[in-house]
Amino acid sequence: MSESPKAEAAVASDFIRQIVASDLKNGKHTSVCTRFPPEPNGYLHIGHAKSISLNFGIARDFGGVCHLRFDDTNPVKEDVEYVDSIQEDVRWLGFDWGDKRFYASDYFERLYEYAVELIQKGKAYVCHLTAEETRAYRGTLTEPGRNSPYRDRSVDENLALFEQMRRGELAEGACVLRAKIDMASGNINLRDPAVYRIKKAHHHRTGDKWCIYPMYDFAHGLSDAIEGITHSICTLEFEDHRPLYDWFLDQLDVPCHPLQIEFARLNLTYTVLSKRKLLQLVRDGHVDGWDDPRMPTIAGYRRRGYTPESIRNFCDRIGVAKANSTVDVAMLEHSIREDLNRRAPRAMAVLKPLKVVIDNYPDGRVEEVSAVNNPEDAGAGTRSVPFSRVLYIEQDDFREIPPPKYFRLSPGREVRLRYAYFVTCQSVVKDPQTGEVTEVHCTYDPATRGGDAPDGRKVKSTLHWVSAPHAVDAEVRLYDRLFAAEFPERGENFLDALNPSSLEIVPGCKLEPSLANRQPGDRVQFERQGYFCVDTKLSQPGALVFNRIVGLKDAWARIEKRGG
Ligand code: ATP
Ligand code: MG
Repeated sequence: MSESPKAEAAVASDFIRQIVASDLKNGKHTSVCTRFPPEPNGYLHIGHAKSISLNFGIARDFGGVCHLRFDDTNPVKEDVEYVDSIQEDVRWLGFDWGDKRFYASDYFERLYEYAVELIQKGKAYVCHLTAEETRAYRGTLTEPGRNSPYRDRSVDENLALFEQMRRGELAEGACVLRAKIDMASGNINLRDPAVYRIKKAHHHRTGDKWCIYPMYDFAHGLSDAIEGITHSICTLEFEDHRPLYDWFLDQLDVPCHPLQIEFARLNLTYTVLSKRKLLQLVRDGHVDGWDDPRMPTIAGYRRRGYTPESIRNFCDRIGVAKANSTVDVAMLEHSIREDLNRRAPRAMAVLKPLKVVIDNYPDGRVEEVSAVNNPEDAGAGTRSVPFSRVLYIEQDDFREIPPPKYFRLSPGREVRLRYAYFVTCQSVVKDPQTGEVTEVHCTYDPATRGGDAPDGRKVKSTLHWVSAPHAVDAEVRLYDRLFAAEFPERGENFLDALNPSSLEIVPGCKLEPSLANRQPGDRVQFERQGYFCVDTKLSQPGALVFNRIVGLKDAWARIEKRGG
């Protein structure tokens, strides 16, 4: 049986891939070239991951190439820190641009020549209207605009003025170069948009060579054409710019005319995906940098402990559509949980310890019990965990007065200590001042070693535990969503939607000794708690810091079960 129909179906799995497949089939193109064009004015976020996965994914699926192009035409907001972080993040996601790394700023000379060509063809003019006047002349959605009084100056005058702009002889804001299209167009983008503006700013790559900079709409399409891009994929807000994209390419003598295709950008519940707003969170200290584990940046997810596979799977799962929508953040959390469920070794860790003394267990005795490393992966084997007379369990796993349906430890109740023994609570010790339980005293049944009773009696709960003398101390950082509101941007100020308890730092956690040598970036499941990752910035040998990647409860699986 032939594999090809299946391969074709996989390849043409969304409307963009269908266009690409048909362009290849009907000979419009013999190979595919896409690009991911970030502006280096911030770190990449999960929305960019969708675009990366789409552009690089199409190149991969159709045997083409994908360029990484820095859209660095605005000198004021851009920075090499961002250039470096973008490359690191794309690579970490698992994509490779080979030697196809470009900068729009490398085309400044050619873009300038294209602008001159536009002037020579009578399709651009230097305009001295102020910003305010320009707005007034532009008209509105219902009213046509008016022609600028500078619109009909001669080609020679325009050429001379543009040259003066380039030489820095005119002040910032004194004039702009505008395309001469149609001030009455129903599409406001076509009402003589700006092509070049004066900006006496230092550029992170071209230094002080230029004091005029091309506008996005002009630079972007031409950069695509210069690079031989076949399919220029962008987000929906550029749909109204497509006629302008095409207009520039139609006027000028360009090597090719790429096809712009728009898709819906990713929006996520409880999340803000705008570089400007993310920058504000960083600058105003609402988070601890771009890679704060609560940030929806690739760097943040990486530090939190997300795997590149989980993010790629998420991007595949959400698909590519033509209509804007918002994806439930639970779906992203489901992707990482699903990945780590398969891969992460299990361990026992007590985050909020309560001391347990097994009164009938010999003092000084230590037994090694055998624990399964990963029930999802038979090959992961077992490890031994020390058990002794004094242990820690979670404070939450004990109630002196158990509420109804509370089956964990309480006076007189028998429970299982995972992989070890059944224990029964006999008494408690309290702080005489506060009345708080500081120690729980139990007895164990030596016949239940391994966790089962030979007489077949059952217990209703199984607790994780750590042997006190063997415990490794650690700090654990419990993260909740950065925003408490499902749609943080709907209110007046997105900062009002910040979740005041998005980070809980829990010092003095007690880990089983096998975790002592975990390295930064290592991921592990703390049984009954969630998935955790050793922090790459704060963790030190002997002073481990773990980030909670995600808890175990899968909201998305529940949503799917309910049928959406
Ligand atoms: P932001 O709106 O966050 O400032 P941007 O669009 O200005 O993002 P760019 O650096 O220009 O950021 O984006 C690079 C590429 O990533 C563009 O092609 C853009 O369309 C795409 N992109 C940006 N945000 C999203 C998103 N939320 N979903 C999908 N693609 C996105
Ligand atoms: Mg942009």
